Amino acid sequence: MRERRKFEGGKLVVASHNPGKLREISDLLAPFDVEPISAGSLGLPEPVEDGDSFIANAEIKALASARGANMLALSDDSGFALEALDGAPGIYSARWAGPGKDFSLAMRKVEDELEKKGAMTPKARAAQFICALTLAWPDGHVESFEGRVEGTAIWPPRGNKGFGYDPMFVPNGYDMTFAEMEPEAKHAMSHRADAFRQLIDACFKQK
Ligand code: IMP
Repeated sequence: MRERRKFEGGKLVVASHNPGKLREISDLLAPFDVEPISAGSLGLPEPVEDGDSFIANAEIKALASARGANMLALSDDSGFALEALDGAPGIYSARWAGPGKDFSLAMRKVEDELEKKGAMTPKARAAQFICALTLAWPDGHVESFEGRVEGTAIWPPRGNKGFGYDPMFVPNGYDMTFAEMEPEAKHAMSHRADAFRQLIDACFKQK
């Protein structure tokens, strides 16, 4: 495998304006020698995410922040994907919530689409969360990783922890939704944690 560029520690712009993701990324970075700074606090604009994959969009966001701040930046592009819906909402997961970012509406839409397909058994309701993480340098170099977690879409939604589609996702081997779990339990198995582990192994100097 090719040599990955290493992160030397210090300040890192977190290229996200999503408070749920910012919280989770800060938690994941806590054990490392990193000072996370949010893109919002630096006044960096949100770029247009017109890539055709999670990694393409993660790279757009990380490069915009790295170049805008002239600092190393970390971005997350992630989403919810239903097998019965050919991977939808996928890279459009945020858009399904509409301009009001209403995830009750987005979850209802997913449920309506599953019902239209007659996807009512747990097997037919197979779901994944997918997360692409990109570390970008101001010179345009990027290192990207993709993580996932498999589970089932349930209805009605349950729980009020987490964010986004968490209340309708039960990971395989568990009875609780992501929104019913303590954050530490979600962090131990999530798509974001999976991508994060790959990033740490490849690009962070081990202490
Ligand atoms: P984007 O990556 O900012 O385009 O948005 C991804 C969207 O996917 C988020 O707004 C959430 O709705 C959803 N999503 C991503 N990760 C998670 C998660 O860990 N839990 C629940 N929803 C998520």
